[in-house]
Amino acid sequence: MSAASLAAPPLTAWGIPAGEVMVIAGPCSAESREQVLETARALAPLKVRVLRAGVWKPRTRPGTFEGAGVEALAWVKEAGVEIGRPVAVEVATTGHIEAALKAGIDVLWIGARTSTNPIQMSELAEALRGTDVPLLVKNPVNPDVQLWLGAIERLASAGVRRLGAIHRGFSTHARSAYRNDPIWRIPLDLRRLAPGLPLLCDPSHISGTVGLIEAVAQNALDLLFDGLMIEAHRDPPAALSDAQQQLTPADLGALLGRLVRRSPTSSSDEYRARISALRLEMDEVDHGIIGLLASRMSIARRIAGVQKSNNVAAFQPDRWQATLESRTREGVEKGLDGEFMEELYALIHEETLRHKTEMP
Ligand code: PEP
Ligand code: MN
Repeated sequence: MSAASLAAPPLTAWGIPAGEVMVIAGPCSAESREQVLETARALAPLKVRVLRAGVWKPRTRPGTFEGAGVEALAWVKEAGVEIGRPVAVEVATTGHIEAALKAGIDVLWIGARTSTNPIQMSELAEALRGTDVPLLVKNPVNPDVQLWLGAIERLASAGVRRLGAIHRGFSTHARSAYRNDPIWRIPLDLRRLAPGLPLLCDPSHISGTVGLIEAVAQNALDLLFDGLMIEAHRDPPAALSDAQQQLTPADLGALLGRLVRRSPTSSSDEYRARISALRLEMDEVDHGIIGLLASRMSIARRIAGVQKSNNVAAFQPDRWQATLESRTREGVEKGLDGEFMEELYALIHEETLRHKTEMP
């Protein structure tokens, strides 16, 4: 099945008014009936559409709190009924799905460790066939948009209609201020491949600490994400999982009040005129970049000719090292990111070598 046939309806099909940023909030884990109820009551006055709580927790190491299990489903449902909100839990097995639906859970989500596994996703999709429960799919832990899309397509093929995706960041080896690196081009690529699919951001699992959550959430809104999933706990330092990234309901309320929703475009004449002028300028720069790249490759082919006729290797490690360092330094001096410069030059160098060696 192709991505085009995903045809997931927008969040209005979930009962969310058009233009509203859907906020899902609640504790990382349901720890006790009291903790869920107290947190839910504190969230009730906020613009939170769905109450979340993890019941089965996929923890990295054994011996940590792995969720209260089936028993907790009733606490979550009770809290949702009391505050008049639908509730969401994470499911990872067909048994979880069965138990969650039996307990009247309204929305399910699939976690980042589960969406990596196509066999598991097919089994979950089969277990959902014939149900009409809304389902959100977190991105797989590894930065692969096709794997994420594949997980969603498997659910769509099983007839799951109300689907959405949640960007929660990726595990990478790159040093990063984030717990899970928000490689924004991946969710934006998903949006390109599945244009109608509601796209949410989970700034809590991206950030790992409360200090970064607001900036990540605002960035998601700047990129026109449709919703946010944010962890909130009545007493974050006492939380049994993800204590450092959970907000108090009061702090969440203040944060939601500061976030600014952006509109897709503006019909103001002044806006249109300024954007058109700037886009023309940018188009000019892009033409320049493409022209310069083509010239660089043509010079590379001439260098290769001279090297070949002198029986010298096309690849000169010292020259490459010096080029990489000086170009990165120059870029950084001009305000460009060092890592970006290195990646860009690695790509340019790879293509230069291809031209020099005439490899396909
Ligand atoms: C969670 O939402 O609590 C969770 C475990 O998320 P993720 O799958 O993104 O790690
Ligand atoms: Mn969590």
